[in-house]
Amino acid sequence: MGNETTAAAPAAPLPEVPRRRSLSPSRAGDFLTCPLLYRFRVIDRLPEPPSPVAVRGTLVHAVLEHLFDQPAPGRTPQQAHSLLAPEWERLAADEPELASLFGSDEELMAWMLDRYFTLEDPRRIEPAHRELCVEADLASGLRLRGYIDRLDVAPGGEIRIVDYKTGTAPPEEFEARALFQMKFYALAIWRSQGQVPAMLQLMYLGNGEILRYWPEEADLLATERKVEALWQAIERAYVQRDWRPRPGRICEWCAHQAICPAFGGTPPPVPDDLPDSLAEVAVPETAQDAIASI
Ligand code: SF4
Repeated sequence: MGNETTAAAPAAPLPEVPRRRSLSPSRAGDFLTCPLLYRFRVIDRLPEPPSPVAVRGTLVHAVLEHLFDQPAPGRTPQQAHSLLAPEWERLAADEPELASLFGSDEELMAWMLDRYFTLEDPRRIEPAHRELCVEADLASGLRLRGYIDRLDVAPGGEIRIVDYKTGTAPPEEFEARALFQMKFYALAIWRSQGQVPAMLQLMYLGNGEILRYWPEEADLLATERKVEALWQAIERAYVQRDWRPRPGRICEWCAHQAICPAFGGTPPPVPDDLPDSLAEVAVPETAQDAIASI
């Protein structure tokens, strides 16, 4: 044994990057806000308890989607109120653990729906699509994916992307962050259909404001560069297994404080089995609303 040499232990193989390179605006927002939150949601796929705020957002979105099933004259505040109970029953049937979360919020949701009617008259609108899934492959191979609340097409062919928010409009200095999601959708439409949407419209039912933006090609090219850079940062974090916490106001809503180092916790080991896609994890949109209003 005297001639035995000590060989260096072989380095552990670096994990491969995901097979499908895809990104949604919600998950992009997670990574921008806190890389560790992105990891908990997308890589670890940790469950998050339903919250009254999330249920409220889901129901209001469902009512506004189905309001347009009615013939135009029937799209009234009374009709919207009458859709709340059946939408609630449908949601509770799918997810019985939500059963206790409705009750006292019914009045608040009716109030939000009334506020929607102060912002526009749905009897004068015929959406081209509701809850539209958009996908587009960028030249790099990265796939963009997301759901648009409503897409309107004017008689002249101009496209308007509409998104409902149950929160309040952000202060001016945070508008860019709120618009990132909308530019992401606009980029996906442009790259998949070859047309730059004429208008992006965010409707804040929490305080009755509308934020509108008229994108140009240069905006969407800049968004494309940002999305690509973001994806590279996600891949780097994944390969290096380096998901840093970035504490901020989002922590108030974060379901993972107990295992977050920023709060004295210890995250579990990073799982070896990855989801096929790093885009598809269902997290209530209202969590994104919370981020957007920070
Ligand atoms: S508690 Fe805050 S810092 Fe920790 S993972 Fe959640 S959002 Fe990130």
